[in-house]
Amino acid sequence: MRSLCAVLAAIVLVAPANGAKSPVVVLDPGHDLRANSATEPIGPGSPVRKIKDGGGTRGVVSGLSEAELNLRVALRLRPLLEAAGVRVVMTRTKTSGTSIGNVARARIANEAGAGPFLRIHADGSTDPSARGTHTLYPALRRGWTDDVHVASKRAAMIVQAELVHALAFPDRGLQERADFTGFNWADVPVILVEMGFMTNPTEDRQLATPRHQQRAAIGLCRGALRFLGRSVVACG
Ligand SMILES: [Zn+2]
Repeated sequence: MRSLCAVLAAIVLVAPANGAKSPVVVLDPGHDLRANSATEPIGPGSPVRKIKDGGGTRGVVSGLSEAELNLRVALRLRPLLEAAGVRVVMTRTKTSGTSIGNVARARIANEAGAGPFLRIHADGSTDPSARGTHTLYPALRRGWTDDVHVASKRAAMIVQAELVHALAFPDRGLQERADFTGFNWADVPVILVEMGFMTNPTEDRQLATPRHQQRAAIGLCRGALRFLGRSVVACG
């Protein structure tokens, strides 16, 4: 058996130190330059359809589009995760086109084997006093999200806590959603963070600064790595 042992030893030596391949995080900066009013089914086989992308909100003071804010945070988050040995896949790297919609975003995450599929957004309200951070995750829908519901809820709890700590905005908690196309098509753990309200002057002013965008990235980095059971040292 000596030769077999030698072969096994050689295999162990060439494998990564943790014995597993790199985890993958898919970053999905919400929206794009243009909305997409075409419709798509809210889940596989569903007769219920919703528009692909309403376009997102905009900073009431800064004038910054939500699509651009989401991207800026994602582009700051990517190198933090990569420094921690995570492979990062982005659903977009520019704000320049028509939104691809939520089925397409979920398919990118499914094909990459994301764990988690991290959807980055900011909120808007007709009430300018509405403020704070919250995180959404898929409700249990048999045949659609039963494979990802529990892990997604766990990811939401961890990431929400880290994001609130990093941004120091009010904690609006978690919200379960059964009607999100991008959740119902996901075959991987998925959450959607609403970092803050761009319709609140205070939060908009802060989110428009590189300092706060970096804070958001650090919070999301720590949350994603804690969900993966990895050290958060690389997040800064
Ligand atoms: Zn959004």
